[in-house]
Amino acid sequence: MPLVGLKPITDYWDSFVVKDLNGVSVNGIPIPVYRFGSGNKMILMWSQMHGNESTTTKGLIDFLNFLNTPSEESNHILQQCTLVVIPILNPDGARAYTRFNKNQVDLNRDFQDFSQPESVFLKSVFDHVSPDFCFNLHDQRTIFSVGSPAKPATMSFLAPSADKNCSLTPSREIAMKLIAVMNDTLKQMIPNQIGRFDDAFNNQCVGDYFQELGVPTILFEAGHYPEDYQRAVSRAMVFHALFSAVHSISSESYLNYTIAPYFGIPENQKVFLDIGVKHPHLVNKNISQDAMVGIQYKEVLESNKIIFVPEFYAIDQENKFSFHKIVDLAVINSDLQVTVLQNIKDIVACI
Ligand SMILES: [Zn+2]
Repeated sequence: MPLVGLKPITDYWDSFVVKDLNGVSVNGIPIPVYRFGSGNKMILMWSQMHGNESTTTKGLIDFLNFLNTPSEESNHILQQCTLVVIPILNPDGARAYTRFNKNQVDLNRDFQDFSQPESVFLKSVFDHVSPDFCFNLHDQRTIFSVGSPAKPATMSFLAPSADKNCSLTPSREIAMKLIAVMNDTLKQMIPNQIGRFDDAFNNQCVGDYFQELGVPTILFEAGHYPEDYQRAVSRAMVFHALFSAVHSISSESYLNYTIAPYFGIPENQKVFLDIGVKHPHLVNKNISQDAMVGIQYKEVLESNKIIFVPEFYAIDQENKFSFHKIVDLAVINSDLQVTVLQNIKDIVACI
């Protein structure tokens, strides 16, 4: 399900709306901001600045619902921390299921120009809140991998650079320690499927921009888990990551960490394709029998549902890619619907 609005999930959150922070999208849709807790550790979180990246929003809602259920941990967090949260920064993109906002601008490249109301609003919330920590929540495409042999990147993190030398600034080191905390939690559940995102500096990106201003900022990327295109697993991993990071902030346990485990997390690569078609020569004689045909799903919004439409991506002659699923045209693929298999054969035949 695409996540285009917060109701009815968060109806009971109305009492937590910050009334003097009134964001509005290009299309005039309100951008609500919520405040939870009363502690002096200020944490600003925003999700779905890219409209079609809703997994972190769902994990964030799970986490906030947990915080609003009395327990020893939630009480401690709410006493120590104040969380200011924008669950959907780009509601126009969310409704259209696009990365961009209504003006076709990537909001995560707008933090020098400030040409869009959504980026101006996030900066105004940042100025208003004066956070000690920022969490920047995104989804990552299925193409991203970690390690060798490659495994899908189910969660990835980045402590964005604060300058073009990628210096270890104090704020960046704090972000790295918090990522080390989250890595410790998640590696129990998804070993070898946690990645570290590219740290090339670009202060048009919000994370680099806030890090440059000296506020520890973390990029979260919810990615793919095998056979889980609805992303239920990475949604759960977002929950566990948020809980462990915020819990660690509340107890200040991250201060006992070094930055070494951060650099021990393998960097993301882009080697995964959704489907690899083996023996493609059986339907297209122009393709070598040793090659694999790589197919990627395109996500299309249709009648309020996301449809995964397979599309040709590349002929892989040199084993450059890994595949989430292999379809061997030389054997009967009993786990595939006849129409899906025919669709794949048609794509290979038309290359
Ligand atoms: Zn994104």
